[in-house]
Amino acid sequence: MKALAVIPGRPNSLHLTELAKPSLESIPNGRGVLVRVLRVGVDGTDKEINAAEYGAAPAGYDFLVIGHEGFGQVAAVGPNVTELKPGDFVVATVRRPGTSVYDRIGTSDMSTDDVYFERGINLRHGYLTEYYVDDAEFIVKVPRGLRDVGVLLEPLTVVEKGVTQAYEIQRRLRVWRPKRAAVTGAGTIGLLAALVLRLRGLDVTVFGQRPEPYKNSELIRHLDARYVSTKSMSVVDGAAMYGPFDLMFEATGYSPIAFEAMRSLGKNGVLVLSSVTGGDRHTDVMSDRINLDFVLGNKVVVGTVNANREYFERGVQDMALAEAEYTGWLSQLLTHPVKGLENYQELMSTLTTAKDAIKVYCEVAPLPAPAKRPTEDVALHDLSAAH
Ligand code: BGC
Ligand code: ZN
Repeated sequence: MKALAVIPGRPNSLHLTELAKPSLESIPNGRGVLVRVLRVGVDGTDKEINAAEYGAAPAGYDFLVIGHEGFGQVAAVGPNVTELKPGDFVVATVRRPGTSVYDRIGTSDMSTDDVYFERGINLRHGYLTEYYVDDAEFIVKVPRGLRDVGVLLEPLTVVEKGVTQAYEIQRRLRVWRPKRAAVTGAGTIGLLAALVLRLRGLDVTVFGQRPEPYKNSELIRHLDARYVSTKSMSVVDGAAMYGPFDLMFEATGYSPIAFEAMRSLGKNGVLVLSSVTGGDRHTDVMSDRINLDFVLGNKVVVGTVNANREYFERGVQDMALAEAEYTGWLSQLLTHPVKGLENYQELMSTLTTAKDAIKVYCEVAPLPAPAKRPTEDVALHDLSAAH
C-alpha cells in the first residue's frame, strides 16, 4: 500500500513509498483495530519534519511515515475488541506510552521520559497511508454525524488538554468564576481555542496579526467572540480594554508573545502556552515587572503538549456541542483538501504557501455514505407491526 514518508535529517524529502499492509495479529491480546485511512490533516509539525528540523524514524527504518491528524473507518477488529466494530469512524491518538509513571496510567502526554513516541512524528510511523493498525486503547470513536469534521479532532485535543489543565489548576482558588478569556493566535489552534472557550461560556478576545476582515476574523465573529489585530492594538492594550483576562491561551507559534501574554494576564489568572517553537530566538522582556505582577497577582503559567485519550473523548463531545450551537462552523475550517496520497507535493506546497489556509488535509479515500443505523429499521418495523 502507498504511504508518504520523509528521510529524517534530509530537508524536503517527502516522497511516496510502499509499505506492507499491517495485520491485526501484530497487536497483542486480540486487541488490534485495522483502520482504513480516509483523511489526514497536516500542520506546522509536518512542515518542520519535512524541513528536517524535527522527527525521527522508527527503529529499523531509515524513513518516517508522517501524518498525525488521522481520520478513518474501522475495517476489522481483533477478537477481544468490544468497543469498536467495522464501519465505525475513528481517530487515533498520537503519543504511545514510554516508561514513566505517567505513561503507565494512560497519561503519556505527561511523560517525563526523555524519549517519547509519537505516531507520524517521532519514532513511530503515522497515518498518511492507506491502512494502519493499533491497539483499541488508542482509538477513539467519532459519531457518524461528525464524520465531515472528524479530521479536526486531533488539533482540537491539543486545545482540550490545555483548557482542562487550566481548570484543574484553578481548583487552587476554591472558587473560580472565569469571565474573560484571551487567545493569542488566530490559526487553526487559536480558532479551536476560541470555540472551546465560547462553549464554556466565556467572553473571548482573539488576537491575530492580520487586519480584519478576513476569513478567520469572520469565523471568530460567528462565535460571538472579538477579533483584535495586533497591527492596531497590542495584547497589553487589549487586556486593558477587554480584560482582565482570567484565562489566556497562547497559540501563535511566536515565543515573544508568550511574554506579552504574561504581562496581560489578570490577577489569579492562568496562561496556557501551546506553541512549539523550535528555533533559538532571544528576546528582551520586562522581567522585574512580569515577575512582580505574577507574585503580587498569584498568577500561573503552564505549558501543554499532546493529548491523551481523555481529551480526545472531550473533543468529540465539544464537536457535537459545536455542531448544535454553531452549526456548520467547524466545516468552514476545512479550507484546503488535497485529493490522493500521490499529490503529496501539492499537499506540502499548499501547507507551506497557501495564504488563506486554515486546515490543509489529504483526502486519502472518499468519505463513505453513512451506514443505516439498526434502530432505524427497528423503528420502522415496530410501526408497521402496530398497524
Ligand atoms: C501534535 C502533538 C505533538 C506535538 C509535539 C503537535 O503537532 O499535534 O500531538 O505532541 O506536535 O510533537
Ligand atoms: Zn499537530
